[in-house]
Amino acid sequence: MHQFIDGQRTTARGDEMFDVIDPSTGEVLEQVVLAGQAEVDAAVAAARNAFPQWATATPAERSAALTRLAAILDERAGELAETETRQAGKPIRLSTEFDVPGTVDNAAFFAGAARDLQGKAAAEYSAEHTSMVRRDPVGVVGSISPWNYPLQMAAWKIFPAVAAGNTIVLKPAEITPLTSLMLAEACRDAGIPDGVVNVVTGTGPVAGQALVGHVDVDMVSFTGSTVVGRQVMATAAASGKRVHLELGGKAPFVVFDDADLEATIHGAVAGALINTGQDCTAATRAYVQRPLYEQFVDGVAQLMSQVRLGPTMDPATDQGPLVSQRQLERVSGAVERARADGAKVVVGGRRPGGELARGSYYEPTLVTGAAQSSDIVQNEVFGPVLVALPFDADDEGLALANDTRYGLAASAWTRDVVRAMRATRELRAGCVWVNDHIPIVSEMPHGGLAASGFGKDMSTYSFEEYTVVRHVMVETTGTAHKGWHRTIFSHGDQG
Ligand code: NAD
Repeated sequence: MHQFIDGQRTTARGDEMFDVIDPSTGEVLEQVVLAGQAEVDAAVAAARNAFPQWATATPAERSAALTRLAAILDERAGELAETETRQAGKPIRLSTEFDVPGTVDNAAFFAGAARDLQGKAAAEYSAEHTSMVRRDPVGVVGSISPWNYPLQMAAWKIFPAVAAGNTIVLKPAEITPLTSLMLAEACRDAGIPDGVVNVVTGTGPVAGQALVGHVDVDMVSFTGSTVVGRQVMATAAASGKRVHLELGGKAPFVVFDDADLEATIHGAVAGALINTGQDCTAATRAYVQRPLYEQFVDGVAQLMSQVRLGPTMDPATDQGPLVSQRQLERVSGAVERARADGAKVVVGGRRPGGELARGSYYEPTLVTGAAQSSDIVQNEVFGPVLVALPFDADDEGLALANDTRYGLAASAWTRDVVRAMRATRELRAGCVWVNDHIPIVSEMPHGGLAASGFGKDMSTYSFEEYTVVRHVMVETTGTAHKGWHRTIFSHGDQG
């Protein structure tokens, strides 16, 4: 039962099966029947039917449903965390302490935000009229999410859309569909009407393209790679849809010579290895000012070798496997290319042996000596790999940090407020941290610029994507002959 359409779990009619695999063991968790055009049509029709009623529900009604949803997700935290861990290879500590509570908090945030859609004050901007702004839902949203944070990405798509009165069809990544289905069920149990939240599980080229190109979908919200995001935009353009793209990243981590060295070493290892490095904001390029460079490299190498790889359900495990064998090949391929280009692998750069060899594990890896223009510095690796490079002047460090096509996240490490403020101004990224790297909060926007896409998830800024701002203007003098009619009636006598 791997589709959730119109409030029901259903099976796709097609006969194409897909194995959802636990990447820590390589064992099949579940077989999913993939959705095709018929399921996408049914889900979009359900969302279209549900739209008028949900769009006119009061903010208080939508808020109450999201409040109940937050409570249900909290009650089901254990099963959600376990399923997320099994399908995505996340250590259970990460699912339990980050993914699930983050999702509950996001539902609670949007329950409140649903009642606080804002706009300009109604006023007489012309002497003869009162103007006001309406913020209305866009309609049916087609959303596509990636596999790295399956539950949170589904939540980031569903909650703001639904809080603003839209209905949605979500297509999760085919390799990690299970918690998105659980989330859709929780929406139904919270009293969100049937058809408001639908999930189709299928591949990108089939179900994804069917959704993005569907004539009855008003808007597309996509999180995933830059290459696929551009294909999605091209398909959506054919029918003129609104598009919101959250794409790849290659976050710099800039360490100035007055930084707290221990804080930078811990911050870099945690920031690079979170979710086995499969995080679009993960620290990937550490630029370290020359006086601290060697100590930084030694410290990171030492700390990385203490990170415990292990079974994902073991609470003592620090780092799990990569999400799939395919991702393992991509990551090890990128490190091998760097090696061949003359870079040095200081620590890691290989798969662990023993029991873990059954899964798609890869050791925490530190690379030095890579050229700024090389593949490993310029392109997403999406694995537990940090590249460290030295710099001299502040200008140079900031310029190197900005020298990729991405612009999602960045961090600056310094105890000097002037340096910190300069870095926040000059680093071209949707999020800039000072003396930390990774934390997010529901109240603040998440989203990138340049090749990292456009538009915002989380926070009330996401309502800019999920609402249409409309102007209503009411004539207030009651006269038949308006002053501005003189532009048409040149004889001056309108009588
Ligand atoms: P991906 O682009 O391969 O797939 C993302 C989603 O798109 C999946 O659901 C996939 O099935 C679907 N898809 C694939 N081809 C499609 C097509 N032709 N038409 C429609 N849909 C299609 O990305 P991924 O490998 O699942 O995820 C990793 C990527 O996501 C990384 O690049 C990462 O940086 C990015 N990401 C970005 C953010 C962010 O907020 N900016 C967050 C998480 C992940």
